[in-house]
Amino acid sequence: MISTEKLQQDLRQKAEKISLEKSVLSQENLEIMPPNEIRQMLHELQVHQIELEMQNDELRQTQIELDAQRERYFDLYDLAPVGYCTLSEEGFILEANLTAAILLGISRSKLVGRLMSGFVHKEDQNNYYLYRKQFFRSDEKFSFELRLLRENNPPFWAHLITTAAKNSDDISVVRLIMSDITEKKLYEDELNRIAQYDALTNLPNRVLLSDRLSQGMAQSQRHGLPLAVVYLDLDGFKEINDTYGHETGDHLLITLSNQMKQTLREGDTIARIGGDEFVIILLDLKTIEDAIPMIIRLLDATSTPIHVDNFTLTITASLGVTFYPQAQNIDTDLLLRQADQAMYQAKLAGRNRYHVFDTQQDTLLRKRYEFVENMHKAMQSSQFLLYYQPKVNMKTGAIIGVEALIRWQHPQNGLLAPALFLPMIEDHPISIELGEWVIHTALKQMELWQNQGFDMNVSVNISARQLQENNFVNRLQTILAVHPNVNPAHLELEVLETSKLEDMNRTAQIIQSCREFNVLFSLDDFGTGYSSLTYLQRLPIATIKIDQSFIRDMFDNPNDFAILSGIISLATAFELDIIAEGVETIKHGERLLEMGCECAQGYAIARPMPAHELPNWAATWHSHSEWMK
Ligand code: C2E
Ligand code: MG
Ligand code: MG
Repeated sequence: MISTEKLQQDLRQKAEKISLEKSVLSQENLEIMPPNEIRQMLHELQVHQIELEMQNDELRQTQIELDAQRERYFDLYDLAPVGYCTLSEEGFILEANLTAAILLGISRSKLVGRLMSGFVHKEDQNNYYLYRKQFFRSDEKFSFELRLLRENNPPFWAHLITTAAKNSDDISVVRLIMSDITEKKLYEDELNRIAQYDALTNLPNRVLLSDRLSQGMAQSQRHGLPLAVVYLDLDGFKEINDTYGHETGDHLLITLSNQMKQTLREGDTIARIGGDEFVIILLDLKTIEDAIPMIIRLLDATSTPIHVDNFTLTITASLGVTFYPQAQNIDTDLLLRQADQAMYQAKLAGRNRYHVFDTQQDTLLRKRYEFVENMHKAMQSSQFLLYYQPKVNMKTGAIIGVEALIRWQHPQNGLLAPALFLPMIEDHPISIELGEWVIHTALKQMELWQNQGFDMNVSVNISARQLQENNFVNRLQTILAVHPNVNPAHLELEVLETSKLEDMNRTAQIIQSCREFNVLFSLDDFGTGYSSLTYLQRLPIATIKIDQSFIRDMFDNPNDFAILSGIISLATAFELDIIAEGVETIKHGERLLEMGCECAQGYAIARPMPAHELPNWAATWHSHSEWMK
């Protein structure tokens, strides 16, 4: 297309030429000009005239095209799918296209001159203020989302893009493009909802629960008020599903959800986190006891009969409760696990009830767990060792054997007696592992002594748990097989009379099986248990060891003295060997000898000692003269 300026310049030049030629064609010139020149000039004039007219047409055509373009531009500008506005630095709307006016629900004439902020939703005013500060400064495109107001209509979500510019007077303005993204927002909201809510009951799901719980914990810290986490699991829901079908099950879940929701206060949360599992967060409790009535209401809400089709269903729930804050730092996961664990306790206790998580008990369990872990490590780094305490015949001075007693050489706490660690692992499988280590170590020691020409009977303490392990007899044989040079008859096992030898028949069988390969048993701490007589009658043991408490108190307590002589007569009656523990003084020994008990173990003879000291001790040991009379 020829540019308008060029056309105009062309026309101007031609017009000047014509006027020049016209002036040349003045009357006098015509008279003196030769006729052929005049013709020539006339011809040129006509040509110019035609050219001028043609160019004039062209110009008009261009003008029409320009007008059309302008109109198209305004159509496009006005009816663009997005709204355009120009804002002054102060935020006044200087101009706007029709779409912007339609979006804001106001005529264009009324729009111009208004402050843009007047169209911003009141909850987004702060954001708008912050954005404005940025988009005026930014050289680049700046985009953000806000809710804008539309006259007589609900607000709409707008996506806004701004660019800083200069208008024709070189004044700074901002061009603003706005589009309605309400639908996109709704869609996003829907996606969020699906991600955070349970489709069946419309309750928050696990994702949102975790969010709410974190918020709740922060709020609890801020307000200084505890919160409760309740883990609720329906009792027997599976049976209802199986009997009445899933549709009924679903119906029940929806109804129950609504019923439970109604018992809660605004701000509390109930979430569905599994098939029939719900978690409830009770916020801002004045005291933790305040949760109890609400928990009872929840229990009631679940046990209210529910009518489905023609029948009525009744279900119950088991609830586990825990509170925040606690003495220890705790996170959302652990809180939920505590509540879950407590719920499990409620189920065990018979369902349709609540159980409050016992943090103290839990701390104890955790401490025990740590302890066991430490013991594992101690075993791996060989921190356990055996001490040996002699058992002698006081009358003859003969050494009958030694008792192996475990010690823990603790890197920080020094040498620990078994009472400081064995009770902590009593019911734990590690006690079996440790028990087997003791037998191994004792047998190894016997081999070592044997090699030094020092033959010694060794008794080893075993826990009732270890004895009653399924494969105790096999395990013992396997261990013995590892030490083939040791005569099994030189090994003795001590089992506590106080221990719960639950299945008497089985225990008797185990002891009998060991007897068959010459490993004999003694009943340790005898006299402190309840069923001494039954034990003596039913268990094929070889020796009883009188508990040291009777020896200790035999001079002070006539009862103990009576029991002591009773035990000694019993042993004689059952033809069992007998040995007294805790013989601390020569007088103890004298009295025992008088009563017919010749064998003893105790400080009056020797304290427990490391293995390497024993041969020396044995070489120098001789019984007290008072005993040998
Ligand atoms: P126990 O089998 O009755 O062992 C005798 C305990 O009495 C030993 O305590 C010993 O040091 C102590 N004792 C010995 N003579 C005297 C005395 O004259 N006066 C006093 N006051 N105490 C005396 P220890 O070594 O602390 O062991 C305590 C208990 O731990 C043992 O009692 C036994 O039941 C258990 N135990 C020790 N080692 C093992 C083991 O390797 N395995 C198992 N399962 N239990 C063990
Ligand atoms: Mg013992
Ligand atoms: Mg004992």
